[in-house]
Amino acid sequence: MADERFDAIIVGGGLAGLCAGYVLAEAGKEVLIVERGNTCGSKNVTGGKLCTHSIEQIFPDFCDIAPVEREIIKEQVSDWVGTEVNSTRPAPEVEGLTPSKAYSVIRAKLDNWLSEQVEEMGGMMIQGILVDDLIVNEGKVCGVIAGGDELEADVVILAEGINALLAERLGLRSPPAAESTCVGVKEVIQLREDIINERLDLAAGEGLEWMFRGNREAGSYADGFLYTNQDTISLGIEFTISDIGLTEEGVGNMLERLKDVPEVAAIIDGGELVEYSAHMVHKGGAEVIGNLVGDGVLLVGDAAGLVANFGFVVRGMDLAIESGILAARAVIEAGESGDFSAAGLAGYQTAVENSFIASDMRLCAEYTASHKTGW
Ligand SMILES: Cc1cc2nc3c(=O)[nH]c(=O)nc-3n(C[C@H](O)[C@H](O)[C@H](O)COP(=O)(O)OP(=O)(O)OC[C@H]3O[C@@H](n4cnc5c(N)ncnc54)[C@H](O)[C@@H]3O)c2cc1C
Repeated sequence: MADERFDAIIVGGGLAGLCAGYVLAEAGKEVLIVERGNTCGSKNVTGGKLCTHSIEQIFPDFCDIAPVEREIIKEQVSDWVGTEVNSTRPAPEVEGLTPSKAYSVIRAKLDNWLSEQVEEMGGMMIQGILVDDLIVNEGKVCGVIAGGDELEADVVILAEGINALLAERLGLRSPPAAESTCVGVKEVIQLREDIINERLDLAAGEGLEWMFRGNREAGSYADGFLYTNQDTISLGIEFTISDIGLTEEGVGNMLERLKDVPEVAAIIDGGELVEYSAHMVHKGGAEVIGNLVGDGVLLVGDAAGLVANFGFVVRGMDLAIESGILAARAVIEAGESGDFSAAGLAGYQTAVENSFIASDMRLCAEYTASHKTGW
């Protein structure tokens, strides 16, 4: 016997889960989001640059009301070997990608703000509790077990991120492969806003994305990234897990090596380290999107592998947001006939495959394949 019943339960309060929850709450659905972090975003390591086109569908004035850091007005890439960077150039332009404004964001602030919007819209949030398992009856997902309680719902949305253990247990996806998974390590370094502006020649509110291409032939296996926030710098590296046997350098040292690059050292000089974190991130972009629905269940965001990450472009947030919105719409539609079987939810799979998610992942993969010597 269930302790409580909802129209939809969402596992994970990242961008995918929160946006799905917002759309469902807006439609008057009884929706519950369960997030294991003490607050939404508290466990997130995103760099990062958010392309805002998808979230503006639900918050048209997002850039004015949400806690964004700086508008990214300059995107550049460099080659990186040892403690040297060279050939700094504008970021490659991939023809056909969805155009979007972009802002640097800090997820602890953004996700927390979004969770407040969900609650204001009537959605229910539980934070600081892990969903331990799913309730499955005759092959259909009917709810979750969390904090010792059984909570039932017509449908469960798995928005649990790259470590999608519940989706794996259901057989909806396999664990991410070492060659298509990176470990990301990031520091957030505090500096005065005017110092960041002066050192990077930025006006107030303007921001920079700087990507560093590790030269594998020369033994530099990590790629790096630098984003300007309002009064902090996010600086980090990504390292493909299957490359582990090719180098003796530890990931911590790779980040130290980036900090020792004179051009980078000059930017962060005198800054105070305020955060250090590490997380996995999908690499590449699936050429074929996997199965996204089962009976009573949908997969969104990183849990579904919806990421375009090729070094010169790291995009998961806008794809996660879009997938959350599309999943919520499919649930609302399925509610009209009361059919929450895989067949009743199949519109979500089609919607993702017809969306910018699939086309942008494909275009980035094609660009990378045709630029084998680098970006
Ligand atoms: C180093 C790094 C840099 C990145 N840079 C960028 C960037 O610049 N731009 C960009 O667009 N993307 C970037 N990404 C990718 C981006 O962070 C992800 O694609 C995006 O966060 C996916 O959102 P999501 O909601 O699917 O998953 P997440 O944001 O990972 O959210 C999943 C949530 O589920 C919760 N959870 C998991 N399991 C459970 C459970 N059993 N019970 C309850 N809660 C659970 C987690 O605590 C988490 O809050 C970067 C990623 C990394 C690691």
